[in-house]
Amino acid sequence: MLRRQMLAAVLVMAAAPAFGQGWPNKPITMIVPFAAGGPTDLLARIIGERMSKELGQQFIIENVTGAAGTIAMAKLARSAPDGYTVGIGHVGTNVANAVIYTKIGFDLVNDLEPIARLPANPMLVVSSDNVPARTLKELVDYLKANPDKVSGGTAGIGSGSHLGALAFNKATGASYQLVPYRGTGPAMQDLISGQIQVMVDQSSNALPQVQAGKIRAYAQTAAKRSPAMPDIPTAAEAGYPMEVSIWNGLWAPKGTATDIIDKLNAAAVTALADPAVRKRMEELGQDLPTPEEMKPAAFAAFQKAELARWKPILDAAGVKSE
Ligand code: ASP
Repeated sequence: MLRRQMLAAVLVMAAAPAFGQGWPNKPITMIVPFAAGGPTDLLARIIGERMSKELGQQFIIENVTGAAGTIAMAKLARSAPDGYTVGIGHVGTNVANAVIYTKIGFDLVNDLEPIARLPANPMLVVSSDNVPARTLKELVDYLKANPDKVSGGTAGIGSGSHLGALAFNKATGASYQLVPYRGTGPAMQDLISGQIQVMVDQSSNALPQVQAGKIRAYAQTAAKRSPAMPDIPTAAEAGYPMEVSIWNGLWAPKGTATDIIDKLNAAAVTALADPAVRKRMEELGQDLPTPEEMKPAAFAAFQKAELARWKPILDAAGVKSE
C-alpha cells in the first residue's frame, strides 16, 4: 500500500514542469490601467476568465488608474517577476506613453516583458444625442462653428481615445476640448447623459451604446467596414480618411521566467481560439491576432515597430504629458 502511494507521488513529481515548478498555485493579479466598465477592463475580464480556466487559477482584476495608464504600468514594472502579476495595456499605455511620459522613472518598453499581443479594435466617432449633427460632415461643421464649446472624453494624454482625438483633428481640421477621465467607461456614462458631447473610442465600448440607441455614431476608423457594424460608414466614406486602431497586449514585469511567460502566452492563445470568446470579440468589432502574431518575440518586435511609427507622429503633434 505504502509502496503504491510512494510510486504515485513519484509519478506526479515526474509530470511536474521542469521550471517555474508548481506555478500557478495561487490567483494571478491582472492590472488594468483604466477604470472598470471601459474597453480595456472588458477585454481583461473576458480574456482573464478564459485564461483562468486554462491555468486552473483565478485572475483577479485590479484597476489601477491615472496618468493614462502610466501609474498602472509603474506598479506592474515594480511587481515581483514571479508570474503572479501581469498587466493588460494597449498602443496608448505601452507605446504612445513611452514617447510622451519621459520622466516616470522606468522604461515602459525595457522594464516590461511582452507576453502576448491581444485583439485590436477600430474606433467609432460618436456623440451624445444632444448634438445637432447626423453625418460626420455635419459634426465637423458643428465643431468648427462652436470652437472651444464642445467637450469630448479621453482617458488622458496618450490614451487610445486621445490618439483617436488626434487622428480626428488631423483628418477633419476640427477639434474639441479634451476632458480627461480615469477610463472611457466613466466617460461613456457622461456622453450618454450629455455632460460631454463627443468621443472617439474603441468600438467595444461605443458600439453597444450605439446599438442601444443611447449615442450616435458617425464613422468607424477602419479601412473597411467591420462586419460587426456594417451600417456605420468608414471615416474615408464619410469624407475624412482616418485609420486608427487600438491594439492591446499583455505584459509581465521584466525578469519573469521564460517558461511562465510561455505558459501565459499559451493560455492567451487558447483563450482567443475559444469559439465563444471569438464570437464575443467579433460582436464587439475586435480584430483577432494570429497565434504567430501573439508569440512573445513577435509581439515584442511589433511593439518596437509601433514605437518607431508613433514617435514622429506624436512629436510632430507636440503632445506633452499633463
Ligand atoms: N479606451 C480607453 C482609452 O482611451 C481606456 C479604457 O479602456 O477605459 O485608452
